[in-house]
Amino acid sequence: MIVFDFDKTLIPYDSFDILLQDCQIDINYFNNELVKPLVADGWDKYLARAYCLVRESQQRKTNKIIKSKLIEVGKKLKLYDGVTAIFDCLQQRAKEHEIELEFYLISGGLVDLARSTSIAQYFKKMWGCELHYNELGEIDFLKKQMTHTEKTRYLYYLSKGIDKKNERDLIYNYQDFPTEKVRIPLSQVVYVGDGTSDIPCFTVINQYGGIAIGVYPQNRTAQEWKHRENISSSQKLSNLVSANYQEDSEMMRSLLLAIDCISAKIALRKLSLGE
Ligand SMILES: [Mg+2]
Repeated sequence: MIVFDFDKTLIPYDSFDILLQDCQIDINYFNNELVKPLVADGWDKYLARAYCLVRESQQRKTNKIIKSKLIEVGKKLKLYDGVTAIFDCLQQRAKEHEIELEFYLISGGLVDLARSTSIAQYFKKMWGCELHYNELGEIDFLKKQMTHTEKTRYLYYLSKGIDKKNERDLIYNYQDFPTEKVRIPLSQVVYVGDGTSDIPCFTVINQYGGIAIGVYPQNRTAQEWKHRENISSSQKLSNLVSANYQEDSEMMRSLLLAIDCISAKIALRKLSLGE
């Protein structure tokens, strides 16, 4: 199982900013004049951003921000080089090893944007912040938030394979959950992310012996990766690579090696069980 973050991991930008631009909202004004005072007043940053966006839409007489706008913006999002081709390529490698491979997305951004991209078809499930739309399709309220720590909850969820109806008890008993009942052990999970919002997931993945891959922008170097100093030794990455997903890139080689590695782990486990 490979789990991807979205903003700045599969696309070069913050998708929320792209939505603002497309709605003719000045990003600096929005962040500094509208969001910043709320954050200073104790608001959670993402809630403040969503609130300001909803207010902006409500104050408009025309051009309200509607669901179809998010879909349109999602369709236009530019992916990092080579991203479109990775899924088939990685599936091919998994097939050679006779293992099953699933892709999931856990985004801290508005997941309706990610769901509208051409790569959405490859993901078994995509989670992120979700907006409620009113009867006219206008953005109305943030109905689901995906904070940094909330992201880890979905890793446990995927690992345990709990039905959606039981989503509530996701993490509370993970440690005591019998290994043989785990759907996919976290040691067989690859997590790919770029930043602060991914640090709790990197930690969980490391704790259970999975593979964490950090991404930095294509035109930068690993040394410049601004989150480097925030990654403590317990959160260490298996590799830190440039966001170039083209064939033969370090990213693709890392992902293919991760599949080889997990395949070997599965084979060893089967051998030990006498299968
Ligand atoms: Mg990100």
